[in-house]
Amino acid sequence: MKSDVLIIGGGPAGLKAGKTIASNDLNVIIVDKEFENKSAQLVYKSGLKDLDLKIDNSYLLNELRKVSLVSPNENKVNISNENINSNEVGYIIDSKNFNKYLLNDAKSVGCEIKENTTAIALEKINNGYKITCKNNEKEYDVETKILIVADGFPSHVSRALGFKSQEKFAKIYQCELDEIDMDLIEFHFGSISPNGYIWIYPKKDSKLELGISIEESNLKISPKQYLLNFINSYFNLELEDIDCISGKIPINSLVDKFYGDNILICGDAAGQTNPFIGGGLISSMKGAKYAGEVATEAIKNNDCSKEFLRKYRSLVLNDFGFNFDKLAKIRDYAFSLSDDEIDKIAISFEGVSFDDLNVVDILKRLIKISPSAIFKLGKLL
Ligand SMILES: Cc1cc2nc3c(=O)[nH]c(=O)nc-3n(C[C@H](O)[C@H](O)[C@H](O)COP(=O)(O)OP(=O)(O)OC[C@H]3O[C@@H](n4cnc5c(N)ncnc54)[C@H](O)[C@@H]3O)c2cc1C
Repeated sequence: MKSDVLIIGGGPAGLKAGKTIASNDLNVIIVDKEFENKSAQLVYKSGLKDLDLKIDNSYLLNELRKVSLVSPNENKVNISNENINSNEVGYIIDSKNFNKYLLNDAKSVGCEIKENTTAIALEKINNGYKITCKNNEKEYDVETKILIVADGFPSHVSRALGFKSQEKFAKIYQCELDEIDMDLIEFHFGSISPNGYIWIYPKKDSKLELGISIEESNLKISPKQYLLNFINSYFNLELEDIDCISGKIPINSLVDKFYGDNILICGDAAGQTNPFIGGGLISSMKGAKYAGEVATEAIKNNDCSKEFLRKYRSLVLNDFGFNFDKLAKIRDYAFSLSDDEIDKIAISFEGVSFDDLNVVDILKRLIKISPSAIFKLGKLL
């Protein structure tokens, strides 16, 4: 079997790359071993708009216009459309139905999708790659001019090909609670989740999705226990256990090298995940769209060399890559603060109109509370 492009991974990144290429009348095959359900996730309206994605009722669970950042002592910094003068909307989406939507979108322009199929072996050949795929007990080879690797974190495929994958990651545990009404998204910071945070996303029918993002090193108790302790204390419950799904996300900005002769790497596999909040849906799909555009151009120009594909790197860096390096530093600063410092910062921003603040004003407030901010954040200005 032959294809112009073969994509390993049918998550949001692989499907977006596939749609972009198939829309240009090229022949694309996506192989995906198994969709990994991440339950409810948060994306922003502007991100979906940048990607020309329709907001569809098949995957939309709720839309919210208020976010609250909560300190250990429950001081709240509320951010809403009014105090940031923006029309931004947070969408809580069902990850399974969102993937189904992206899959049908890619199929509608001619993408060939092979579900329950694993790429089990890879070989660099003249002018492309040969990939051995396995579906049930059946094995077959596909020869492709360009290979796009979108197999998520920690990208066993790119590692097998000699590319360095990311080492630093946050562990995620996520669960559902019902019979609680909330009309805003909350993020909680401090020693309730060391080197990380806890989020609450209201879904529909009085159901909440709660999650913890945490770096696993030096923890006193398990990540799941941190989440359970928070739930019992914040909602005054006495649960003994919770049913969780779990996963990992890369949090160290982009990997050094994410292209080569006849190959492009995108999505979580390339570290295209916001290193501060760990959200990767929008940025992974943006990276994948650029990978798709550059792959299309390369095939039409009959040049799939790394020199031609280098353009992909610049597109990613200029869109979000350079920002990710700054966000990784902000993460290190934010997660080094003590509970007391976080409380003081929250108090100093309570009721403030963010529209009236510029970055220097924000930094001045932070330095007043935690002088180390000047060393950790000063260079970012
Ligand atoms: C629990 C959890 C909650 C999250 N919540 C949010 C959120 O609220 N908002 C947000 O923006 N981001 C969130 N993220 C991050 C977001 O899900 C990822 O950034 C995004 O899914 C990355 O997409 P991807 O296509 O690169 O990788 P993935 O979604 O991981 O998809 C990779 C696909 O490749 C397939 N695959 C792997 N190896 C092979 C192989 N050898 N052969 C064939 N197929 C293969 C896998 O089966 C999988 O389907 C969350 C992540 C987790 C784990």
